[in-house]
Amino acid sequence: MLANRPLESRPPSDRQIGHACGVFGVYSPGQPVAQLAYLGLFALQHRGQESAGIAVSDGETITVVKDMGLVTQVFDERRLAPLYGHLAIGHNRYSTTGSSSWQNAQPVYRSVGDAGFALGHNGNLTNTAELAEGLGMLPGMTAAETEVDSTTDSALVGELVAREWPMEPRSDGRDLELALEKVLPRLRGGFSFVLMDDSRLIGVRDPHGFWPLVLGRLDGGGWVLASESAALDIVGAHYVRDVQPGEMVVIDASGLRREHRFAEPDPKLCLFEFVYFARPDTVLYGQSVHAARQRMGVELARQAPVTADMVMPVPESGIPAAQGFARESGIPYGDGLVKNRYVGRTFIQPSQQARGLGVRLKLNPLPENIRGKRLVVVDDSIVRGTTTRQVVAMLREAGASEVHFRVSSPPYRWPCFYGMDTGRWGELLAADLSVGEIREYLGVDSLAYLDLDRLTAATQASPESFCTACLSNEYPVPVTLTDTDAKLVLEEPVLDLGAPTIASP
Ligand code: SF4
Repeated sequence: MLANRPLESRPPSDRQIGHACGVFGVYSPGQPVAQLAYLGLFALQHRGQESAGIAVSDGETITVVKDMGLVTQVFDERRLAPLYGHLAIGHNRYSTTGSSSWQNAQPVYRSVGDAGFALGHNGNLTNTAELAEGLGMLPGMTAAETEVDSTTDSALVGELVAREWPMEPRSDGRDLELALEKVLPRLRGGFSFVLMDDSRLIGVRDPHGFWPLVLGRLDGGGWVLASESAALDIVGAHYVRDVQPGEMVVIDASGLRREHRFAEPDPKLCLFEFVYFARPDTVLYGQSVHAARQRMGVELARQAPVTADMVMPVPESGIPAAQGFARESGIPYGDGLVKNRYVGRTFIQPSQQARGLGVRLKLNPLPENIRGKRLVVVDDSIVRGTTTRQVVAMLREAGASEVHFRVSSPPYRWPCFYGMDTGRWGELLAADLSVGEIREYLGVDSLAYLDLDRLTAATQASPESFCTACLSNEYPVPVTLTDTDAKLVLEEPVLDLGAPTIASP
């Protein structure tokens, strides 16, 4: 069936997949915790580039510094020096709910009487409307009217925790823990939290564990929480274990004091962590992400072989899968595109007329490697397809005789509601096109996507332990149309593949 919107009417966009955030926490008396948090956030920069923030406690006062921009733009020695304490959390943000603004940068800080707490959130809740209603916040109210100083689901969690704070301060100081025990079972969707009060570090993962959160140990005896194990390596911590889905861990002066299960675990790690999000040097489910991506390329070569002269990646995301494809197929591996390593999200976006130029600024072909060759071009995913189409046109201009595109994941057809930013449903290239139509749109000689069962096999983890909703339309947590985000994401729905499995309110 043909698309119900002409391709040329697609909103022009060269946006790639975005992520929800990176979180980091450290409890280590006597160590420069703010500097460690800075290094941890730097290692997790790929998970969010819009804002960065660190909260530090010296046992009495929590100080929060946050701003828009990359970690290295927000923090320098002058800004880190006064952040003295024994306990810190940090956050890199990529907005999925709420606008990209200073108010929505994290950590979120809340004062409650004489106490206070800070929170960093990776993920997206799916029952924000219901939670907000329970707090007396009506749809359309501004942040000022609700007296919550931000429009994110993370700020909403801060408000819920503040309202559940014990009336009388606890002599054992467990106020934040007790408030969380009441709030966490009410949250739905994706959440990996790092939280702190003036003397405790807390890590929380939702019952499905959509987003990773690991626990590490510093040689000096301190503890670290991080979105990815690679961040542990960078601060000199060693991996202890994953925070389990449905678990809250509490770290204080006595060490890892409490491991509390607030819900039955039903692990559904985001499969795209393996495909694209996580750093290649991260370990997930005990498997090296880099090695898994190479195995995806091997599987792709077995599933969709082709006669060609050179296998090349779309750098950098397609590199390991292209290596695996080349190894399995016996076709030589080579470079056909050079990536400008310094183009990040801070780059001034080109005007609409100059969008084609925008891709060239990031990726430039190597004509001497390409001319006259039959190419196998490997990338990890195609979300909106605009960049891919331009890349193919560049390769043809540079003299490629054939372009065979291979993708190391299945067509990305349904929106994510748990914390990955793909924009609106109507922007997803595969939402309403068959593989043949996408091949035509991209202008390639052949196109193949890796089958879902081969992809999960390449991870060497149980297929049941993944969320695959954007690829399979099987949503582990139902989404209701009362949720504002769901409405936004579902604008411009397409009908020929079946609507996402959205529950009625
Ligand atoms: S819907 Fe897709 S991107 Fe979102 S958590 Fe599931 S697998 Fe990951």
